[in-house]
Amino acid sequence: MTIPLQAAKPFANEPFVDFGIEENRKAMEAAIAKVKAELGREYPLRIGGRQVMTEDKIVSVNPGDLGEIVGLVSKADRALAEEAMQAALRTFESWKKVPAAERAQYLFKAAELMRKRKHDFSATMILEAGKNYAEADADTAEAIDFMEFYGREMIRLSRINETLPLTKAAGEDNRLEYIPLGVGIVIPPWNFPLAICVGMTTAAIVAGNTVLLKPASATPVVAHKFALLMEEAGLPPGVINFIPGSGAEVGDYLTSHPKTRFVSFTGSKEVGLHISRLAAETAPGQIWIKRLVAEMGGKDGIVVDETADLDAAAQAIVVSAFGYQGQKCSAGSRAFIVESVYDEVVAKVVERTKRLAVGLPEKNFSVGPVIDRSAYEKILGYIEIGKTEGKLLAGGGAAPGNGYYIEPTVFADVPGKARIMQEEIFGPVLAIGKAKDWREAIDLYNDTEFGLTGSFFSTDEDRIAEASDIMHCGNLYVNRKCTGALVGAHPFGGFNMSGTDSKAGGRDYLLLFTQAKAISRKK
Ligand code: NAP
Ligand code: MG
Repeated sequence: MTIPLQAAKPFANEPFVDFGIEENRKAMEAAIAKVKAELGREYPLRIGGRQVMTEDKIVSVNPGDLGEIVGLVSKADRALAEEAMQAALRTFESWKKVPAAERAQYLFKAAELMRKRKHDFSATMILEAGKNYAEADADTAEAIDFMEFYGREMIRLSRINETLPLTKAAGEDNRLEYIPLGVGIVIPPWNFPLAICVGMTTAAIVAGNTVLLKPASATPVVAHKFALLMEEAGLPPGVINFIPGSGAEVGDYLTSHPKTRFVSFTGSKEVGLHISRLAAETAPGQIWIKRLVAEMGGKDGIVVDETADLDAAAQAIVVSAFGYQGQKCSAGSRAFIVESVYDEVVAKVVERTKRLAVGLPEKNFSVGPVIDRSAYEKILGYIEIGKTEGKLLAGGGAAPGNGYYIEPTVFADVPGKARIMQEEIFGPVLAIGKAKDWREAIDLYNDTEFGLTGSFFSTDEDRIAEASDIMHCGNLYVNRKCTGALVGAHPFGGFNMSGTDSKAGGRDYLLLFTQAKAISRKK
């Protein structure tokens, strides 16, 4: 097998752009102007190489400026979803025979093209998802990382018999092959509208599957750009079938479909559990157990003891709570601080929070809008609940602007069982609780149905060792923020109601989209 040249280079994370440098800022402004010139365009579905414009459209609105329509995206109904399923089934028969290294080549090519047009993708997210420059740039960088990483991973898996041979058995040649599953449904969320969409889709296809990609309805325009990019990279038609549509209508139909082999979902606990129930049913004619990869919500937190660097801890709490308006599954929406340094850390957190400026993403304010009206109302509702559960120290309501702006809000003295300590709010709301010592702080941290990310701030080595053992989450960080997982460095996924712990961006991930076949031949 010829290994693509790119794969000879070891994987390295795409560097982040420094927008403190004038030239970089200008380049992003130019990209935003370019995307603005495309506002209000109409986009088709892309099914087996066919572009389908539908009457009914998803209207993608800029959450930071409600007068701006980012795009009108065609919407699949059940008949079009079925057409896409048939295209994916047909294409699977040829795609599964394409050698792994060749499949990887499409990912490397797409990564190269995306790298060249980085700001174009980021600018689209600034307008469609309300990200500031650095958040959008990190999203694009992660998308590139996923393609570079999964391409290499597939090549590694395809060579497993050379690198990790099976135990020798007398008189036999034994080998293991990772073969694809079939047609998968890929359902990403809107909050990393490029990175997660690209990661979930390309992992599935590089493993030899074909997919139906149903992007989140809040961010279909950037997802369309990705679908187009894969075509440009030369990916055969029908490998990725792009079918935006209503989760409830198209989603349920496809999850229940007898030919669906797997569902790869990232989103809320509620929808994840719904899909899990539906996918567990066996439809007439179905001859397998559907595989489900479900990455769901979080109620992540940061624990600070009295030996910690308190400035660093306060900074990490603020960045983790309010980065992208708290709309990350990894957002640090809780902080637990030991009594002896509680007042000091809370004061530092409040002071830093009050300095955060809220405003238009395209002007690169630290804090932008939340994604849509229903999120806006839900978050403001939780802020009202918070006012009865804790002490309001910063924010506390809507912020001005022609969009879904909410003030970064801090509640202190919040009891562990309070709703704002237990339920995922997915907005700029931080709940702080007081603990008598570091062990109690960890108990409070662990008292959740979720288990995605957490941070422990301390300088005491024994405590760090123990916290590493007992803080129950898929991604634990020590003396740093609890957001910002890097592909390759921090395989990502959570415990309990945070999902199936798929470890995206890690070396176990592609196995979820394959089945292993052992072949034993008598000599
Ligand atoms: P969501 O409401 O659950 O939606 C996620 C996706 O599911 C969207 O594409 C949505 O489509 C679709 N969907 C809705 N109903 C469906 C159904 N019945 N069948 C199939 N698909 C359906 O979540 P979200 O608001 O987009 O994202 C925020 C959530 O994602 C948070 O809970 C966050 O913690 C979680 N998240 C987790 C991770 C992780 O790695 N663990 C990463 C990022 C986000 P529509 O848009 O058309 O409704
Ligand atoms: Mg929108």
